[in-house]
Amino acid sequence: MVKGGTSILSENIWKDALKYFAGGVNSPVRAAVKPSPFYSLSGKGAYIYTEDNKRYIDYVLGYGPLILGHENEYVKNKVIEQIEKGWIFGTPSKSEVELAKKITSHMNSVEKIRFVNSGTEATMNAIRLARGFTKREKILKFNGNYHGAHDYALIDAGSAATEFGVPDSEGIPKEVLNTVVICEYNDLNCVEKKLKTEEIAGVIVEPVMGNMGVVPPNENFLKGLRELTRTYNSLLIFDEVITGFRLSLAGAQGYYGVSADITTLGKIIGGGFPIGAIGGKREIIDMFTPSGKVFNAGTFNANPVSMTAGLATIEVLERENVIEKTVSVAKSIAEELDNIPVPHVINRVQNMFQIFFGVSKVTNATEAKKANKDQYIKFHINMLNNGVFIPPSQYESIFTSLAHYDDYVINETIDAIKKSRSGI
Ligand SMILES: *Cc1c(COP(=O)(O)O)cnc(C)c1O
Repeated sequence: MVKGGTSILSENIWKDALKYFAGGVNSPVRAAVKPSPFYSLSGKGAYIYTEDNKRYIDYVLGYGPLILGHENEYVKNKVIEQIEKGWIFGTPSKSEVELAKKITSHMNSVEKIRFVNSGTEATMNAIRLARGFTKREKILKFNGNYHGAHDYALIDAGSAATEFGVPDSEGIPKEVLNTVVICEYNDLNCVEKKLKTEEIAGVIVEPVMGNMGVVPPNENFLKGLRELTRTYNSLLIFDEVITGFRLSLAGAQGYYGVSADITTLGKIIGGGFPIGAIGGKREIIDMFTPSGKVFNAGTFNANPVSMTAGLATIEVLERENVIEKTVSVAKSIAEELDNIPVPHVINRVQNMFQIFFGVSKVTNATEAKKANKDQYIKFHINMLNNGVFIPPSQYESIFTSLAHYDDYVINETIDAIKKSRSGI
């Protein structure tokens, strides 16, 4: 098994891909691996194996869902059992009720749920719900927060939107732009001013920014948002698509002790299969059709494969102290990164972290953009050459999984970091 580097086989597939896909890919961040992306063939535990017969320790983990690592046996067997029975019925199936029971048992603020197919759909519907509930039109979001790829979210958006220089996407109607109000992350004064002067239906926030690298909330930021939204009769929407079942079984809300009115989930709750969810108080979620008048529907909503994979994943999270283990791995890796003798800062919350070179603090998107991206990319390439896959973009998060809780994997990673730090 060869580690690292780019290779001729993936390069050949890439040449074809460029003919068929815009920029060669179907989701932009995948094109950030230079000179061409490697093509994954299989995954097992902490490792990805490529078409070139190379092996990487994977700290990208599908950009968030794979908190158990690749091909977890328990999840795999549950999914196979489900597939043997069928995979879509267009009727409800028991698995959706079981997953909803499981999620609501862990998240206090989530009494009822609507399952959809992606985090994008989750935030799009959460925003519509907030408008329907409050009869107001505007939404407040934060610079650099990423809430998926729909019109209302693609304004000052983080993640690949920033990486590829389009935080404000083309193709969004002015009428939509006029309904989105922006503040800097961690700036409560701005939030108060906007809530006072504009009719805001909801404030949507990543409780930990995971799409601008990692940026934690300041001490009183989330509590402040809770109080301000209450004062001005606006809804607080926590976008927990990354943080849900990652920071704790009760998400960022459990970790920080702040409850949202509406919670969006995705990634981990689908166990690696497509999913999104909107959760909240009964009276809010009941506004969705058919009980209410805020329309949502989907051919693949609550499909039994995603439901089963999500339920199995949460069962393993409960049984095996997964979060604690992933946090301990994250600490070891972040400590080794901190030894890199080049000026930098590391932001870590639990099992998500990122390194920013050339800056001493990153508390919002403006500061994140001041970090030396070139140094980060050099480090990413060096790590690939030493057999470790960390995100190909400064504006993504490094994640750890249960499968990384293994001395061999950790030591191999630490070795790679030591070898990768020269020349950046
Ligand atoms: C990934 C992500 C989304 C979008 O989810 P998709 O399933 O990719 O549509 C939304 N919000 C946050 C915070 C995310 O990290």
